[in-house]
Amino acid sequence: MGGRPQPAGPPLRDLYETSALRERAVSESPDGPGHGPGSTVPTVTERSATGRRSRTEPGVGRPASEVRDLQAAFNAAQLAMAVVDREGKVISANQALGALLGAEPARLTDEPAADLVGLGQDSRTWAAYCEVLRGRSERLRCTQRLKSPDGHSVWADVTVAPLADSRSVLMSVADISDRRDLQARLRHLQMHDPVTRLPNRALFFERLAAALDTSVHPRGSTGRIGLCYLDLDGFKAVNDTLGHRVGDQLLSAVAQRLAHCADQAGYGRRGGHLVARLGGDEFALLVEDSTGTEQLSALAGSVLATLQRPFELAGQRLSISASIGVVERVAAGTTATALMQAADTTLYWAKADGKARWTLFDPERNAHRMTRQALASTLRPAVEHGEFTLEYQPLVGLGDGSVRGVEALVRWRHPQFGTLAPNRFIGLAEEDGSIVELGRWVLETACRQARRWQLEHPDAPVFVSVNVAVRQVWDSDLVADVAGILESTGLPPELLQLELTESAVMGSAGRPLQALQALSDMGVSIAIDDFGTGYSNLAYLSRLPVSTLKLDGSFVQGFRDEEHPNPADETIVEALVQLAHRLGLTVTAECVESAEQADRLRRIGCDTGQGWFYSRPVPADRVSALLGPHPAP
Ligand code: C2E
Ligand code: MG
Ligand code: MG
Repeated sequence: MGGRPQPAGPPLRDLYETSALRERAVSESPDGPGHGPGSTVPTVTERSATGRRSRTEPGVGRPASEVRDLQAAFNAAQLAMAVVDREGKVISANQALGALLGAEPARLTDEPAADLVGLGQDSRTWAAYCEVLRGRSERLRCTQRLKSPDGHSVWADVTVAPLADSRSVLMSVADISDRRDLQARLRHLQMHDPVTRLPNRALFFERLAAALDTSVHPRGSTGRIGLCYLDLDGFKAVNDTLGHRVGDQLLSAVAQRLAHCADQAGYGRRGGHLVARLGGDEFALLVEDSTGTEQLSALAGSVLATLQRPFELAGQRLSISASIGVVERVAAGTTATALMQAADTTLYWAKADGKARWTLFDPERNAHRMTRQALASTLRPAVEHGEFTLEYQPLVGLGDGSVRGVEALVRWRHPQFGTLAPNRFIGLAEEDGSIVELGRWVLETACRQARRWQLEHPDAPVFVSVNVAVRQVWDSDLVADVAGILESTGLPPELLQLELTESAVMGSAGRPLQALQALSDMGVSIAIDDFGTGYSNLAYLSRLPVSTLKLDGSFVQGFRDEEHPNPADETIVEALVQLAHRLGLTVTAECVESAEQADRLRRIGCDTGQGWFYSRPVPADRVSALLGPHPAP
């Protein structure tokens, strides 16, 4: 019998004695006995038309006509059925079963029923079947894949349940191929994107979860996973200018090339790499069992290359590019969320770095980003929690070595990350606007401290120099803040200097310029910080209410080495100082680290110096000790 399944499993009688029989039935129908597809005949055999219960084989003890009727109904039923004895042999099979298996029903008699529908192929099913035969279980229900007489696969819902006579069981076999087909087609629809026909987000995440489930990794697998997360550059413009139809065609053409690429790269691997459309113009290529970053970067490179060729769509030539975030790692301990987050971040880097490229996930860059995020989120409350402190660094007169002023430099005593230098957070504070509040706190704290020093040293008062970010000028009423703070602290305006960067001051018109003018009119000095790093026009600067240039540290560092003096830097600094003086500006040199540098700066004519040679930035109480004259170099 061509379509018959291969007999499998030990003979039934032997198996009665095996331990497998101790397992309980596994495939019970959830809707209980009597409601499955096989429930019709037991109902007929249990109760005759007269309501009497049958005690023996079907029909025994019934009037002969009734038995004949039942037999005819059994034979004519559309549901394939067989009555099977307690040893598992077929007593009688109906026409439908014969048709399903491609055999005369009569020839099925005495055949092991299990062999007909492959119940012995799986040990759990086999055990459950035996339990039913032994009368220990109410019912077995399972889905089996059979081969039809013409060679096609048939999905069958097999039910085995005892008949009321207790000497036989009824096996019914319902062909559920159509239902399975429909289910499969529905699932395909649910799991695929209609535009590109690629697996969609749902299927992608299903496969990803399976790939990350290390408990089922086959032996010999690498235990690694890789992902190329791709986004088309400028796809929105295509959609907006050429319409959604062309946009869809482009997506579909991109999908084809990606699938081809993945096929080539995954050649020899069962099923190749999964290509999915995650939504919009985002695609993913999942490399299960990857061999390392080289494999992923090669794949990403070939994807970029394949997308570089122009697309011929709707009579037009379209050129696009893509950005790809590449992540490759050990599967164990990775979650789908973590992997996708890493891929998303990396894709963002690829975009930020200029698009049309692939970028590999970099844990260090990510840690930096995470710290930035963590800092940004705790920045605002930190001002209220009093986590900031100020240090002060002396500004020393180069002529006599006396401390003329101090620059206030903020530090963040972060509860988690320790003390942070301003370069770690000032930029963030400017981005999220918290610089306004922080700047106000710095200004007030520095002014109150300077007033204290003034009272302690009334004969030689030092000024305090406070850094001001450009956003403070734009987003707050700096002039009113300064006026209010000077009044509340009692600090004379002459003892306050504000440091602004070149970029904050250059080209300033309108509000910033008015603010500078008002502050200057108030008696507050304005200094240009880090002078020389931008492109300021000295002549222009001199027309602004600016009194001091703070020469960027890189100039002085340029002539640090006595053995290799760099005359170019020295000449530039000398020219700058002369020009500044002629324009009525004083000059402070930053980063003075040695006596030689201080000496040369003094000879050049520079007015004040600041740097480690004199003092590192120190807490307020240490400044008091420094307020005596410093020995001239
Ligand atoms: P800046 O205003 O140019 O401050 C000078 C920086 O140079 C300080 O770094 C100081 O510690 C460092 N420095 C001083 N002497 C030397 C030296 O001899 N050699 C070297 N290599 N470096 C020296 P810090 O404290 O890390 O401050 C960095 C920047 O942060 C400041 O540069 C300033 O632009 C900004 N900043 C500091 N405090 C504030 C603030 O309260 N508000 C605003 N908006 N910015 C601030
Ligand atoms: Mg400064
Ligand atoms: Mg500076």
